[in-house]
Amino acid sequence: MVGSEVWVEDPDDAWVDGEVLEINGDEIKVKRTSNKTIVAKTSSAHPKDPEFSPTGVDDMTKLAYLHEPGVLQNLKCRYDVNEIYTYTGSILIAVNPFQRLPHLYNLQVMQKYKGVALGELSPHPFAIADSAYRQMINESISQAILVSGESGAGKTESTKMLMRYLAYMGGKVDNTEERSVEQKVLESNPVLEAFGNAKTVRNNNSSRFGKFVELQFDHRGRISGAAIRTYLLERSRVCQVSDPERNYHCFYMLCAAPKEDVDKYKLGNPKSFRYLNQSNCIALDAINDAEEYVATRRAMGVVGMNQEEQDAIFRVVAGILHLGNVEFAKGKEIDSSQPKDDKSRSHLKNAAELFMCDEKALEESLCKRVFVTRDETITKALDPDAAALSRDALAKIVYSKLFDWLVEKINVAIGQDSDSKFLIGVLDIYGFESFKTNSFEQFCINLTNEKLQQHFNQHVFKMEQEEYEREKIDWSYIEFVDNQDILDLIEKKPGGIIALLDEACMFPRSTHETFAQKLYQTFKDNKRFSKPKLSRTDFTICHYAGDVTYQTDLFLDKNKDYVVPEHQALLAASKCSFVSSLFPPLPEESSKSSKFSSIGSAFKQQLQSLLETLNSTEPHYVRCVKPNNVLKPAIFENNNVLQQLRCGGVMEAIRISCAGFPSRKQFHEFIDRFAILAPEVRSKSDKIAACKKILEKSNLGGYQIGKTKVFLRAGQMAELDGQRAEI
Ligand code: ATP
Ligand code: MG
Repeated sequence: MVGSEVWVEDPDDAWVDGEVLEINGDEIKVKRTSNKTIVAKTSSAHPKDPEFSPTGVDDMTKLAYLHEPGVLQNLKCRYDVNEIYTYTGSILIAVNPFQRLPHLYNLQVMQKYKGVALGELSPHPFAIADSAYRQMINESISQAILVSGESGAGKTESTKMLMRYLAYMGGKVDNTEERSVEQKVLESNPVLEAFGNAKTVRNNNSSRFGKFVELQFDHRGRISGAAIRTYLLERSRVCQVSDPERNYHCFYMLCAAPKEDVDKYKLGNPKSFRYLNQSNCIALDAINDAEEYVATRRAMGVVGMNQEEQDAIFRVVAGILHLGNVEFAKGKEIDSSQPKDDKSRSHLKNAAELFMCDEKALEESLCKRVFVTRDETITKALDPDAAALSRDALAKIVYSKLFDWLVEKINVAIGQDSDSKFLIGVLDIYGFESFKTNSFEQFCINLTNEKLQQHFNQHVFKMEQEEYEREKIDWSYIEFVDNQDILDLIEKKPGGIIALLDEACMFPRSTHETFAQKLYQTFKDNKRFSKPKLSRTDFTICHYAGDVTYQTDLFLDKNKDYVVPEHQALLAASKCSFVSSLFPPLPEESSKSSKFSSIGSAFKQQLQSLLETLNSTEPHYVRCVKPNNVLKPAIFENNNVLQQLRCGGVMEAIRISCAGFPSRKQFHEFIDRFAILAPEVRSKSDKIAACKKILEKSNLGGYQIGKTKVFLRAGQMAELDGQRAEI
């Protein structure tokens, strides 16, 4: 209608608002506040809420018009006044403030949220945690809080807040124990962050692993145990860091340790180590590595690692740095290799000393391979390039075993309560990723997100229908996009991508080319799969959050969870019991070279078991949003945010709700807003009758009147506002 306020699409800002000047068929001319006029498609225009409050609403479902531009405007105007949290029904959206807001998280705030129903106070992670805790106590159902969002969106920070609140609610009253379960759980964070987080271009403290923390509670609602499960640590970072990123924090901490430690581990300037100096980024502005070292050591103590163990751990970390400095040159025989010079030799010696293994054996394990055939054992020399690869493989496997050991150790120290009745799980796992080049890691990460998305859709859908049932209104089946077809494509057995990848890995002559060919052949008619025109080995999956093209080059290698037998033998023989315990003897079966174990399949299984756990809980969702890519406060980029809301399923949740009755208003609110359409109702005390009267006079159909609310179909609120404006 000419004169009304609308939102129209805009390539730069996603949505812009203005007043309709004229309508010509399927085009409208709109005047912006800046007096500029633009022309847009009528079909893409949305009405703007004339009564939108400049401070927004704390729950998207309270918006009169539930559509993309409305959602975006609401988040933005709240963000502008540091209201970083907003609900969409029971989902919490958290927009990263990129500045400390300590007043939001102190003890008084925790006390305030205790026992208060969700929605009564301003949106907050404490409110979500409190609601989970109360539901667990009142209804005796296990709970899960799923935190998601892209790298740097604030998942880990939100998770820590949730855990702090749960520790506060479920903590022990008496403090006679040396360290309570909840203290150990909280102190596990700095330890895991030291060894599993790194600076990336997206986040200065990026978690390079997924994490599910399960808090177990006794019948009185006290935390009685906990378990931490981790997923897919990024191994390649140990020996490959691109500028301006960093390796795992622990390496820099150790180089900045007190002098006696630095001397003991034969360390020095981090710039002198190849695993660190491939990137120019060594020091971080906001982080003091020396202080972090002391703090990490302290936290390691809290989670039950004694001095001896801590010493062994850091010895291994230092050993990896020295290992990285061993370079290879051609050896005496053809195609053989040996340490390049005295410097390389001395690093090799240091590495051997720190791993407490034989120096010669270490050199051989890097420069030679032993092949066992039916009749004989052949030793083959590796050329310098192959030896360098072997060195990096050793560094990666040692580090990843070290990380697994830490997680296991923490779990033992915290202790499991096998009698526990209920649990609250908190999931902090990588969000959907789509980069310029995407490899096996992105493939696994995006599989995770597909699975969680399916779980989320099913849940949101169920909640929506429950609301209709509560209000006793009729509802018919609402369609929602199910992504089962993508899951089948990836993980169906046999025949899915992971199964084909495993097959390729087991067949000695496979290459990524033959693997890609097999994919093209098998999925040529699959709607979710395509082959990019200009590539011979890439493939594209049409994910729920958009298309992602994967480069298959390293898929086979990265899928093989394989310890080179020479490395295994070397470290199993270490004089340090810690190091040898990282490499327990393999069962006979798997030491044969043809067997391989698949990272993809193992990960699929891990996810399966995670989903089983989640399915037995009542889920709660926190969707973290990163408002800009420069990691600075007060910058809110519309397009960027919108894309994340889509990927996180917030838009889908809204769509599901739009397909039914997206606008709902309490009777009294409805009457306040629209009594002008039927002034006679003002005197009525029967609210339902008053609402009915208004709706009858407005000539709308298809709406419903529930027990406490009026339910309107999409567009009807705008229609009513229009009628009101004409009066
Ligand atoms: P990744 O997937 O890379 O691990 P993430 O989603 O876990 O990312 P966080 O590490 O939680 O991201 O957050 C990134 C940074 O954003 C934090 O180091 C912190 O500086 C800032 N940040 C996030 N949430 C908050 C908050 N609630 N208050 C203040 N700062 C925050
Ligand atoms: Mg994180």
